[in-house]
Amino acid sequence: MPEPLDSFEPTIGLEVHAELLTRSKMFCGCSVVDSTAAEPNSSICEICTGMPGTLPVINQRAVEYALRVALALNCTVAETSVFARKNYFYPDLPKGFQISQYELPLAQSGWLAVDLEQGEQRIGIRRVHLEEDTGKLFHREGYSLVDYNRSGVPLLEIVSEPEMHSVEEVKAYSTGLRSLLRYLDVNSGDMQKGTMRFEANVSLRPRGSGQLGTRTEIKNLNSFRAVTRSIAYELERQAAALSQG
Ligand code: ADP
Ligand code: ZN
Ligand code: MG
Repeated sequence: MPEPLDSFEPTIGLEVHAELLTRSKMFCGCSVVDSTAAEPNSSICEICTGMPGTLPVINQRAVEYALRVALALNCTVAETSVFARKNYFYPDLPKGFQISQYELPLAQSGWLAVDLEQGEQRIGIRRVHLEEDTGKLFHREGYSLVDYNRSGVPLLEIVSEPEMHSVEEVKAYSTGLRSLLRYLDVNSGDMQKGTMRFEANVSLRPRGSGQLGTRTEIKNLNSFRAVTRSIAYELERQAAALSQG
């Protein structure tokens, strides 16, 4: 009997969140501090803690950094881009909404060239947009603590097309993207500190099928090892599930 995975073609799309190396936050003047080292809640203000009646003011440097990335990824930069409120309730989100870009992102339709065994290949970039990071929760026994130092740190989201078909391609794309962001001086590439995080969208379809399969999304991955291992696991799991109908 053949291995279940042999009869399917994997499809993978990645969402990458990268903290931008600006001195101040996305919509206020608070300093961006190392959230693993600084005293909790030492770099916060009424804007990044969501007090009523405050108004966000955009960080020009964050926009410049995002444009650098958009151009390096061969994207079309929008003449007009719009911020939106992504409403949800969670204690690490003091406003009750994240300021993000939805319908009109900063840039769209680019590509990143990656080196593979079979030669160079372009992976499509669907969109690049700006948003803000959340605070950080620390769960203790019976209660939780929250640190808002990270709340409002500029975050760039880079969404690929569903165009990767193996763990090797995902590895080449994600390491290539990290190198690019570091080369452009917009992100530290310090994955241990969570400055670059991944979400992997994974599906299988029967080989030869023209339609993409149903995807699942693996969230909050913060190392290349976690990305590649979780995708490999998920491909096996989906193959077994689909084989059983
Ligand atoms: P959402 O917020 O719903 O996750 P996004 O557009 O931010 O939507 O991200 C969707 C991601 O999933 C993209 O990277 C895209 O390439 C990928 N994707 C979409 N459809 C599939 C599929 N059938 N299989 C694998 N990946 C997919
Ligand atoms: Zn602030
Ligand atoms: Mg998603």
